[in-house]
Amino acid sequence: MPTEKRVAYVTGGSRGIGEAIVHALAADGCHVVAVARNKEKLDALAKAVGEKGGSIEVATLDIADSAALTASIEQTIEKHGRLDILVNNAGITRDGLFMRMDDKDFDDVMNTNLRSAFVACRAAARIMIRAKWGRIINISSVSGLIGNAGQVNYAASKAGVIGMTKSIARELAGKQVTANCVAPGFITTDMTDVLPQMVKDKVLELIPLRRFGNVNDIAAAVAFLASEKSSYITGQVLAVDGGMTM
Ligand code: NAP
Repeated sequence: MPTEKRVAYVTGGSRGIGEAIVHALAADGCHVVAVARNKEKLDALAKAVGEKGGSIEVATLDIADSAALTASIEQTIEKHGRLDILVNNAGITRDGLFMRMDDKDFDDVMNTNLRSAFVACRAAARIMIRAKWGRIINISSVSGLIGNAGQVNYAASKAGVIGMTKSIARELAGKQVTANCVAPGFITTDMTDVLPQMVKDKVLELIPLRRFGNVNDIAAAVAFLASEKSSYITGQVLAVDGGMTM
């Protein structure tokens, strides 16, 4: 018998946006499987969610390892008899001007940000199709919509995520499985903390709502797209960016 709760698999749940997504989905009553590389952070997350009464399990995993990612999702399906929600959130940056960018920095970002999302969607789709219910939510970026100097690799991966998601949405729509992207703008996390203040000041000028986003802004959008309420929405890119790309 499948587990009663909806099961959600979230990559990169150990910190930042992913951590907030895990909390939001657990608060909505899902059993959440969170994966990332840092065991200590994952254990702390499991404790925090558990203390709030949420249902969670965590596993260390490098999502750039396609075989390990596939096996992890297959184990989740086998254990619970279902996988209802997949959130491909884990991502990295290796910024630099493109004329000086080496192949490794391009490949690492593509493999972690784009190929992993493809691998995870492929592994999750079969059970969603069988269940005639599924929510795939891929975290893209405004960089994938409008580009960003110094982020050729990252922007390519995030634009790729959008094209891939729309194609998956078309392939799975007949089975009532939806696939959508959330494209965050500038969100305060470890990823953006490292940017120089000058860059942050410049970005802020481009945001009509005049503030950086926080992780809960993104988690709320993901929770909506993961819910029953979004059942007539597929193949869309929801920019959660303070109006930056309107
Ligand atoms: P973050 O604070 O750097 O967190 C990244 C998460 O991904 C961590 O949980 C990290 O965990 C995990 N991760 C990275 N590489 C991994 C790998 N190879 N295997 C497994 N897990 C891995 O980033 P964030 O700001 O929360 O970003 C989350 C997503 O939103 C990313 O896809 C990012 O591109 C996107 N985004 C962020 C912003 C922003 O302004 N922050 C804007 C647009 C889009 P471990 O290190 O423990 O593995």
